[in-house]
Amino acid sequence: MYQSQMLINGVQVSSLSGKVEIIRNPANQEPVAEVTVGSRQDACLALEAARRAFPIWSLTSRQERAKILHAAADLVRHRAEQIARLLTLEQGKPLKNAKMEVLSSADVLDFYAEEGKRDFGEWISSSHSRSIVLRQPVGVAALITPWNFPVDLLAWKVGPCLAAGCTFVAKPPSLAPLAATEFVRAVSDAGLPAGAANVVHGAGGEVGAELVENPISRKIAFTGETETGRWIMAHAAAHIKRVSLELGGQSPFIVCADADVKAAAAAAAQRAFSNMGQICISVNRIYVAEEVAEPFIEALVKRAERFKIGDGLQPDVDLGPMFSGAQREKTREHVADALEKGAALLSGGQEPEGEDYEKGYFFRPTVLGEADHSMRVMREETFGPVAPIMKFKTLEEAIHLANDTEYGLAAYVFTNDLKTALCAAEGLEAGGIGINVNNVVDLQAPFGGWKESGLGRELGHYGLEAYLETKHIRLGM
Ligand code: NAD
Repeated sequence: MYQSQMLINGVQVSSLSGKVEIIRNPANQEPVAEVTVGSRQDACLALEAARRAFPIWSLTSRQERAKILHAAADLVRHRAEQIARLLTLEQGKPLKNAKMEVLSSADVLDFYAEEGKRDFGEWISSSHSRSIVLRQPVGVAALITPWNFPVDLLAWKVGPCLAAGCTFVAKPPSLAPLAATEFVRAVSDAGLPAGAANVVHGAGGEVGAELVENPISRKIAFTGETETGRWIMAHAAAHIKRVSLELGGQSPFIVCADADVKAAAAAAAQRAFSNMGQICISVNRIYVAEEVAEPFIEALVKRAERFKIGDGLQPDVDLGPMFSGAQREKTREHVADALEKGAALLSGGQEPEGEDYEKGYFFRPTVLGEADHSMRVMREETFGPVAPIMKFKTLEEAIHLANDTEYGLAAYVFTNDLKTALCAAEGLEAGGIGINVNNVVDLQAPFGGWKESGLGRELGHYGLEAYLETKHIRLGM
């Protein structure tokens, strides 16, 4: 069986306690790997290693750092097949999607290799002085990530962290640590000083909590649930640490009367069901103008029924299993709650039938009509393949409904009218607005949430700034 260890001070190690856990494939519950499980003491060792490496890495020139980051990107590409296979085995997503995730993580490293060179600072002249404004790395960063995109979301942090001159301890999700650990190993193998990149495994409440509470870490970059983010923010306050939080979402998708209905249905289906709806920017609620509701719903149901579901290692599979029994149970509960409150089941609503699906956490893409805001599926983050639909009369009403949530990560609008697009984009309360697109992620642009969906921004030059402190040097003349 595949063995996964931690990476501390450039060396692969077991935990001090020797504890291990078995990771199982969500497609069939077969054992996939044995993973070392760390504790608070292991987290401390990793933080100390990162602290020792910080003066070396932060004083390495930007050009040299860029060379190493490009080499890391190449090594990740070279090992992409192996990392992607581990990702499918532990997380369930189809192999083609796993490979895309790993390759896009390499692109993130290349992007920040160059972005790190562009942090120029400022020179300000006053009558009796000159001011130099420098940007310097924050210090040791704790990078804590979830299981839905365990490689890519870690790369969003590793790239800018290293480009800025920070060192880090990463804590991948406990139930899907394999591919993320291999990703960091590839980055470390590209020529980083020992201790600049560390990985510790273990429970969030123990290993993650140590990374947050220990004064060695000066910056916490977290992606995960809003509740965990709230805990992290409160505990990081003890040492006034820098925090970036990418949290939960409940993203609305508005289809206006003048939209290209077929394109909107295809986009909604893809964003509601890919990765089995386990995406923070998934389409969670669809608001459709009454005039086009019928053709839109018909097209969406057709799309939902076209996906090929199966073990992610099989060729041509579009959707794998859900990540865990708990995720599937929550999805079932949300669907049952909606049906009890009057929703209409238009497609899916249960696991697919057949021997191939008996042991895995499979669930059919589900479309619900007649949804309203009394239903959990319209208010909570289901994190499952469910698309509930509600009709609206006016754009103002749609925007009001879309904003009626504590979340504010992404929102989508399909319209062919420029004024409608701009009014909606300005009125929606979210960090990313997709107009006639179903994705608000662009490596070069800021990504993050409003309201309880997060704090700070990743990607683009914003992502780099999150790892830099500002220093003002005043020269008397
Ligand atoms: P989670 O919050 O349960 O766990 C995320 C990570 O935090 C894991 O590594 C976990 O071990 C760790 N953790 C848990 N408790 C901790 C603590 N007290 N201190 C430190 N670390 C702790 O989230 P999850 O279930 O793995 O991921 C799903 C969630 O992530 C969803 O809510 C989803 O919306 C969100 N998410 C957000 C984004 C975004 O960019 N906004 C992207 C992907 C996922």
